[in-house]
Amino acid sequence: MKAMVYYGENDARFEERPKPKIIDPTDAIIRMTKTTICGTDLGILKGKNPEIEETAIAETGSFNGRILGHEGIGIVDEVGPSVKNFKKGDKVVVSCVSLAERARTVRSSCMRTA
Ligand SMILES: [Zn+2]
Repeated sequence: MKAMVYYGENDARFEERPKPKIIDPTDAIIRMTKTTICGTDLGILKGKNPEIEETAIAETGSFNGRILGHEGIGIVDEVGPSVKNFKKGDKVVVSCVSLAERARTVRSSCMRTA
């Protein structure tokens, strides 16, 4: 899949990345049909979140960029076994500003896109 990937302050690249995989039972994979870069992404791009690289290095030992863009419209491609409200083929809106119950799931997917 194509992705806008953050590598550091003012360094974002449009490149090929592997398709995500279901990790947790509450995960969902959405094939985005429309997306945007929000204010959070712009802050990251301007270097306001150095913890992104620091956290990746602390957790994995390296930093291979972080995919930007976490809001948009898409079609459900795959769901984990605990996802009951959505199924493959559903049209959905993806937003990090969501019900508290779902915020954790969205945050998780945002954190695992790199
Ligand atoms: Zn956002």
